Amino acid sequence: MKTAGRIHPVYAEMERTVFDRMSALAREHGAINLGQGFPDGPPPPALIEAASRALHEKSNQYPPGAGLIELREAICGWYGRHQGLVLAPEQVTVTSGATEALAAAVFTFASPGDEVILFQPAYDAYAPLVRRAGGVPVSIPLAPPHFRYTAEALAAAITPRTRVVMFNDPLNPAGTVASHAELDMIARACVEHDLIAVSDEVWEHVRFDGVPHRSLMHYPGMAERTIKIGSAGKIFGLTGWKIGWMIAAGELATAISRAHQFLTYATAVPLQWAVAEGLSLPDAVLDGQRAEWAAARERLKAGLAEAGFAVLPNAATWFVTADLAASGIALPDRAFSERAVVEAGVATVPVSALYQGEQTPGHLVRFCFTKPAEVLDEAVLRLARFRAALLA
Ligand code: PMP
Ligand code: GLN
Repeated sequence: MKTAGRIHPVYAEMERTVFDRMSALAREHGAINLGQGFPDGPPPPALIEAASRALHEKSNQYPPGAGLIELREAICGWYGRHQGLVLAPEQVTVTSGATEALAAAVFTFASPGDEVILFQPAYDAYAPLVRRAGGVPVSIPLAPPHFRYTAEALAAAITPRTRVVMFNDPLNPAGTVASHAELDMIARACVEHDLIAVSDEVWEHVRFDGVPHRSLMHYPGMAERTIKIGSAGKIFGLTGWKIGWMIAAGELATAISRAHQFLTYATAVPLQWAVAEGLSLPDAVLDGQRAEWAAARERLKAGLAEAGFAVLPNAATWFVTADLAASGIALPDRAFSERAVVEAGVATVPVSALYQGEQTPGHLVRFCFTKPAEVLDEAVLRLARFRAALLA
């Protein structure tokens, strides 16, 4: 069969995602994987125990499509405690990871020809989802090292065709956190131009240095126009579970749950039970895990700095980013990552892969730090040697 012209152009032209590619290269070359974001440490035992209990004691058949009521209630309780949001379970749809929630939100609100504002860098699913919906991604580049949002850039990107703003805070890959003034500015623009905000807050609980999380949903006029997206994968460090959710009000909530109906309908029910229990655990359990991640972050930052890498400021996520040019390395980020996985035995993510088109800074590399101390130390040793060889 001739396939030319049969495959949707979005998929015909798509490359394999950088995360999958770097993990495959890491396996192939036996490299330390600081590329795709996931923690290596043991998962919270209470969740493993709850999942295994659910497998044996609860139903393993289809749950309600929108998710177990117990999980939806636990999600509302958790956001009430942690973010002061007053939510009802009818507002919550449980999805197969935040990725499905992003797809459902985009497919619901972006019709052919609609413009969707994306800030760059962004999780690499955003733009293809918008294009597959027939929408037009309009990118606003954010500049390192602080990746700040400005009213001028946002105003310049908004047109009469703009329908949606996709926003990610804390920001992957930079690990930066938007200020109150920035969130307020984005919220005002959404209200003024009657835009829907798809607010990807999956990193909301992975914050350091006492930095608070502020949901865009909290800002005046935003409760009725925000789709807030979360992920148990990030909160508990269980990325393979793929339990996420999306939260909205009134008819928006009904509409996105319709989109979910025919994307996956429902998601793994034993894991839903376990996440419901996890969200109801004492805060100390997650605080302990966060303290370990914070220590790992300090270790990698210090190690990289010692090895001559210029590390950018970050306050959240599992990632630190280094500026190659400021580290004396003349290679573009993609070339650095391609060579480092083979020659140094360390997989990383070139930040260019998370920018659209030509807007990339081109010299930033992301490292995932949620790994045991000895793994980080070995990675730093290898990267130091690699940098020295490049500079020689
Ligand atoms: N959004 C962002 C900003 C992410 O970083 C990720 C995963 N790293 C996701 C969404 C996807 O989350 P999930 O694995 O729950 O689908
Ligand atoms: N977004 C994750 C990261 O930043 C990866 C997600 C994926 O691999 N699909 O590493």
